[in-house]
Amino acid sequence: MIADTDVRGDEKTDATQIFDLKGALAYASGIINTIREPLVVLYPNEIISSVNSSFYKTFKTDIRHTVGKNIFEIGNNQWNIPQLRELLEEILAKKTSFYDFEVEHNFEIIGHKIMLLNASKLIIRENSDQMILLAIEDITERRNLEKKIEKEKYIVSENKRLRGLARQKDEFFSIASHELRTPVTSIKAYAQLMEKDFEEAGNKQAVKMLSRMNVQIDKLAFLITDLLDATKIEAGQFKYHKTNFDFNGLVNEVLDEMRFVTRTHTIEARLAKTLFFFGDRERIGRVITNLLSNAIKYSPGTNTVIINTIHENDQLTLSVEDSGIGILKSDQKKIFGKFFRLKGAIADTFPGLGLGLFISADIIKRHNGIFNVQSKSGKGSVFSFSLPLDKVAAPAMEIAG
Ligand code: ADP
Repeated sequence: MIADTDVRGDEKTDATQIFDLKGALAYASGIINTIREPLVVLYPNEIISSVNSSFYKTFKTDIRHTVGKNIFEIGNNQWNIPQLRELLEEILAKKTSFYDFEVEHNFEIIGHKIMLLNASKLIIRENSDQMILLAIEDITERRNLEKKIEKEKYIVSENKRLRGLARQKDEFFSIASHELRTPVTSIKAYAQLMEKDFEEAGNKQAVKMLSRMNVQIDKLAFLITDLLDATKIEAGQFKYHKTNFDFNGLVNEVLDEMRFVTRTHTIEARLAKTLFFFGDRERIGRVITNLLSNAIKYSPGTNTVIINTIHENDQLTLSVEDSGIGILKSDQKKIFGKFFRLKGAIADTFPGLGLGLFISADIIKRHNGIFNVQSKSGKGSVFSFSLPLDKVAAPAMEIAG
């Protein structure tokens, strides 16, 4: 009997040695089965010697389909990946290990996964067959998270880039419209002078042409102002100058201008008794002009537009009604967006930039008012805004009207 000695120098019997070995084995397999990563021990011929419980759990398999089988054949050859084969062969031939080999694969049963493989040669006993220990880590979630973070980073940087471009575009609009305004103003002044001269000279034909030219110059000036103001609104630089003014006085002034330029429609006015309102006279005038010119523009083939004012419950409401092309319910909120214009065979034929309502909505909002649209496609629209009569800032007072 071969006797061995333990740490205390006592002699060990074969039985004690076997007992110790069994204990060590139980200890080792206890550790291996506790490890959360799937582990595989392979013979040099790629036959599986053993796997841990995590392997069974991860790949939803059992001992019958695993131990004693060739690793490349289990699970319908799902591990038969040429690069893995090459690496395992290389380990046996020269290297002792490989690290972090990433496998992206559609595994049977568990589906698409990304696995990180690490392997090393196990020297169990000298001159015996060398085994390979293969550790498998499922990094699908980690990779997906990394991809998500990358995507989010990309979105953040794209947003930043787009904001930069939007700022550049706003600056361009601002400079361009500012620069366009000066020459247009002097063209307008010269055209008016010429119209006057031709009138005095009695040249009716030239006066007619110049008056048409003046209308077009006004339209151009309006477009330029809209562009400039829309960029100011975006930049929070659209200034308001509020004063007390006679509301009907403003409505009538706008009506005079609109009636002067409109050849196709009659504008019927049903105005409530006038009152003073505290706000930006010019800007509210612009909202009324926008609503009237839209009502005329988007109601071809009809001949009446109605403007109505009422004041009740400390509110002043102005509405403009047309019997034109109307707006689908789904588009009614969108038309207040910047550059939004309705699409369609008919809608596409009307000129415009899609800025009027965007600017009007800001003006009404800045007076604590609200906009309202009632419309039916093909039947017509009623656009209205209501403004609170601010008793503290400026007592509402009725004047003769
Ligand atoms: P623009 O008239 O210059 O296009 P607006 O901002 O004033 O710009 O109007 C935005 C869009 O709303 C228009 O392009 C048009 O499609 C729609 N719209 C505005 N007013 C009316 C209306 N009275 N009837 C039908 N559609 C309208």
